[in-house]
Amino acid sequence: MDTQAETEIAATPVVRSRTVERLVAGQFVMDGAGVRINRVLTGPLQRRLDPFLMLDAFGSDKAGDYIAGFPSHPHRGFETVTYMLHGSMRHKDSFGNEGVVTDGGVQWMTAGRGVIHSEMPAQTEGLMEGFQLWLNLPARDKMRAPWYADIPSGDIPRFTLENGVTVQVIAGASHGVAGAVQRDGTEPVYLDIGLPAGARFEQPLRAGHNAFIYVFRGEAVVEGKGIAATRMAILANQPDADGVRISASTPTRLLLIAGRPLGEPIAQHGPFVMNTQEELIRAVEDFRAGRFAG
Ligand code: MN
Repeated sequence: MDTQAETEIAATPVVRSRTVERLVAGQFVMDGAGVRINRVLTGPLQRRLDPFLMLDAFGSDKAGDYIAGFPSHPHRGFETVTYMLHGSMRHKDSFGNEGVVTDGGVQWMTAGRGVIHSEMPAQTEGLMEGFQLWLNLPARDKMRAPWYADIPSGDIPRFTLENGVTVQVIAGASHGVAGAVQRDGTEPVYLDIGLPAGARFEQPLRAGHNAFIYVFRGEAVVEGKGIAATRMAILANQPDADGVRISASTPTRLLLIAGRPLGEPIAQHGPFVMNTQEELIRAVEDFRAGRFAG
């Protein structure tokens, strides 16, 4: 990595860490054609965690929990970010894009004015584990042209600190390393952080941006508060906090996600997320009339 950038960060540590405002246990739901999911970020938290609309965690070595997949379905008005820790999922969409997101890879899809796609397992046995995050689009971008990228694991920028902490920078930036994806309107930071036992990690966060942690191995600690595996911690928006300090006494792995709130009305009907009811009605009409096809 860029040693100059690392030096700069080392010279500007987080002075005051955010605290944990609330711990959230996800809800087990069935989605798609019958996939077992831990829905961590649910509808009632969309306003609090603006611009993030949903976070699903999935993980099972029982094919019956995932094999049905997500057959053809539409999206409009936001972005989906699929991060596959283990396993393979095949994506096909109405614009002719096709790809397999596999072990450590990310698929970033901007639905914009409308995409119809399927997300189906490309495996019939073994472990499938990962996450799907829904990131809202600013009103001005909701009807933009769709976009998508498959980012294999080897293309995700990563670095290791002297204390053994490993960071994969999916979006935004950390310790001078720019992530795989950048977004103007929502300025998302999406990090996968691995902490060895006894290690500490600091990440500057912009005041006013909403931020949360999801622990998927071990247990993290933020300002004395423990965050167990499969729990989300919403980080408080203290105006005088300049970031977050995370430590772990056991090997721990977590997602740290932050973004700039849009402050716009959120109108959702299933896979359509717009600003008004009228726009939702139009989304349903356009879908039924076949206007989502590439
Ligand atoms: Mn989808």
